Amino acid sequence: MKIVLLGAPGAGKGTQATRIAEKYGVVHISTGDIFRKNLKEGTPVGLKAKAFIDKGQLVPDEVTCEIVAERLKEKDCEKGFMLDGFPRNVMQAEALDKMSDVDLVLNIAVDLDKLMARLTGRRVCRECGESYHVSTFAGNKCSKCGGEVIQRADDTEETVGKRLKVYSEQTQPLIDYYTAKGKLQSVDGMKPIDEVFAEVVTVLDKVK
Ligand SMILES: [Zn+2]
Repeated sequence: MKIVLLGAPGAGKGTQATRIAEKYGVVHISTGDIFRKNLKEGTPVGLKAKAFIDKGQLVPDEVTCEIVAERLKEKDCEKGFMLDGFPRNVMQAEALDKMSDVDLVLNIAVDLDKLMARLTGRRVCRECGESYHVSTFAGNKCSKCGGEVIQRADDTEETVGKRLKVYSEQTQPLIDYYTAKGKLQSVDGMKPIDEVFAEVVTVLDKVK
């Protein structure tokens, strides 16, 4: 099973990825992880990437593609893989087509307005880390420890809005690209985690 996972930040993609990897025994390849590994180990591609990062520049698509291509050649990918965080744009998707023939692109679809409300409504206890949501919580006192409940800087409307805008601008061309190839399958990511996973299983069982 060779799949690509798409999903907005905060839409539970990480949780679904973990469950998919467990159920189907596919390697979960997160681009962030393989980048960090190559940088840490100082591999030739890692050094290439580091040269750009040190200059404060974005790592070019060519280097990112090289890092992914090398990872896909490793033995644990023989039976399949699940890519997470790659491709990020159509150029990378075309490069991936040359590396491998993916079976399916699984899109954890979200309603951006609803996701925005969900994410900006998050509150967290400064003391114990307990999380709350404004839809079910009022005030600013943690019911567990009495600590102050606050909104993290990451969860403000401005930050979340920016993150989701970047995501949808990057992802729409990919959705179009894979739809045209007949490879895109979407599940409703706004449902509870277990229901989303049930939909994911229905889709993936057809691939196996
Ligand atoms: Zn607390």
